[in-house]
Amino acid sequence: MIVAEQKPIDEIQGYVAGHQRVLVLGCGTCVTVCLAGGEREVKNLASLLRLSCGQTTFEENTLERQCDAEFFDAVREQVQACDAVLSMACGVGVQMVARQFPDKPVYPALNTRFMGTNDGAGQWSENCLACGDCKLGLYGGVCPVTRCSKSLLNGPCGGSADGKCEVDPESIECGWQLIYDRLKALGKLEVLDEIAEPRDWSKTHAGGPRKLSREDVAGLA
Ligand code: SF4
Ligand code: SF4
Repeated sequence: MIVAEQKPIDEIQGYVAGHQRVLVLGCGTCVTVCLAGGEREVKNLASLLRLSCGQTTFEENTLERQCDAEFFDAVREQVQACDAVLSMACGVGVQMVARQFPDKPVYPALNTRFMGTNDGAGQWSENCLACGDCKLGLYGGVCPVTRCSKSLLNGPCGGSADGKCEVDPESIECGWQLIYDRLKALGKLEVLDEIAEPRDWSKTHAGGPRKLSREDVAGLA
């Protein structure tokens, strides 16, 4: 999922200051799961803003997904009746709101952090950088790009100790220890005898926003 967290309240208050009617708009997908921008968080943030921004009226709603144009009809009238939208989606959702309502100011209520997993109560960690050239098949299903702090394809570096990463031994597992352990469990340690070629980072940073076109799906439309 995309993992996000709420911005500091004073930053949000700064965005909505001066507006008369603001729609606090949640998203029912990733940010609901990571407890940052779902229906419950919309209710909490709107209540807090009502207490602290007395001049402004705050409405509430939550779309199934803000990153998908097909869900916006449910809020079109409500948005038109407001003079700004405070989006509690990830950065993708915020930009979709802006595209859907070109004449409305749209503000982000969240900071989008990364794509990751829930590791326990209140704990999330990054698992994928969307590098565009997935190597999980070579590394036993453990991503060297995100799980190794230096994104080494031919690890480990000299700083791995007791399964921990030298960048922060308190909180970061050595990604290469994880890769080794996994390949060992699979009986595939010989994979590590091969020197991995340098990555083609042009698929990650090709200049401009990355796009994906699938003719097989387009033909079904
Ligand atoms: S190799 Fe690339 S696409 Fe695959 S998990 Fe890692 S960052 Fe994501
Ligand atoms: S200690 Fe492990 S995770 Fe940390 S940078 Fe070195 S190889 Fe990567």
